[in-house]
Amino acid sequence: MGNDKLSWIQDELDNLKSAGLYNTIRTIESPMDAWVKIDGRSLLNFCANNYLGLANHPRIREATKKAIDTFGVGPGAVRTIAGTMSLHIALEQRLAEFKRAEACISFQSGFAANLGTIPAIVGRGDVIFSDELNHASIIDGCRLSRAKVVRYKHNDVDDLVSQIEATAEFGRRVIISDGVFSMDGDIAPLDKLVEVAERYDIMTMVDDAHGEGVLGHGGRGIVDHFGLHGRVDVEIGTLSKAFGVMGGLVAGKAVIVEWLRQRGRPFLFSSAMTVPDTAACLEAVNILQESTELIDRLWANAAIFRAGMQDMGFDTGFSQTPIVPVMLGEAPLAQQFSRHLFEQGVFAMAIGFPTVPRGKARIRVMNSAAHSEEDIKLALKTFYEVGQELGVI
Ligand SMILES: *Cc1c(COP(=O)(O)O)cnc(C)c1O
Repeated sequence: MGNDKLSWIQDELDNLKSAGLYNTIRTIESPMDAWVKIDGRSLLNFCANNYLGLANHPRIREATKKAIDTFGVGPGAVRTIAGTMSLHIALEQRLAEFKRAEACISFQSGFAANLGTIPAIVGRGDVIFSDELNHASIIDGCRLSRAKVVRYKHNDVDDLVSQIEATAEFGRRVIISDGVFSMDGDIAPLDKLVEVAERYDIMTMVDDAHGEGVLGHGGRGIVDHFGLHGRVDVEIGTLSKAFGVMGGLVAGKAVIVEWLRQRGRPFLFSSAMTVPDTAACLEAVNILQESTELIDRLWANAAIFRAGMQDMGFDTGFSQTPIVPVMLGEAPLAQQFSRHLFEQGVFAMAIGFPTVPRGKARIRVMNSAAHSEEDIKLALKTFYEVGQELGVI
């Protein structure tokens, strides 16, 4: 009886189920790695954003245990009140050096970094030019800011320019784009976006979640990829993907980082990254700075996979990065494809509406340096068999 006011939730859940849009989440019974254990079976994993295999790297496991012995586990409270641990300062300095940015500040996640940063740099009366395919955390950050949001066509610099020309009333202005788009694996034309921004004197912000540890020399990110050091005002990154841990970062001009320490709400009102997260990320930076081996292997694996799929006649969309979508069209086919792969030992997720447009359902394949060449060949063979079985190729 007392639950009647909540009965709408059960109705909504039932609707999701009947529409085939209900998220069923697999339980992983092993570390996140090239192979994972699900329901007692070992499966080849192509779902994680664990690009470099750092989520279960022996050096990171060791460094984390040591840090716990020195610093414990929790940061105690928000940094402005309880003080900040030397570990967090060390991580921020190392990340700034690594990315050749003036300064860097860490957040609890990439999501929190966007929610904190966008409302700190624009507000009511200001204008945000936002790529139509930007990530949900950018969209939410834009909403929180109360600035006017003008969407431009995906990666379309000409459309961006006409939107800028058509928007005459503004206080401050910023252009915001994902660096690598997570569902298609294509790269934003950041060099051209920066040129436009400089021409019109607009701030630039890029969210490099899928480029961090992937693009640029040794994984230094999209700003390094395009050689734009010092010309992008704010770069958001995540420590939850290639870095294999959890956390967010903002790198860029020192004055912006200083401002976020004063006005970034998730920084002011939510505790810092935990000790194990921070120590693990520090060791990840060490590993990336010592060698480009993991990044090289990631790109080599992705190239073998993409070429193999194309040779077999699969459509891999606009992929330019280790994210390789296998375009299948309608959602039920993508789901069926994913189920067959799963039965044959390959864990690769079907993605449909609303994450991607209707009719553009796909299997999203996340390549990783953790995979061996044999793993990639086994995946190709399994995709071939399922593709034949379902009449896709
Ligand atoms: C994954 C992702 C995020 C969120 O990062 P978390 O660290 O997992 O919160 C933010 N932006 C983009 C573009 C992403 O792909």
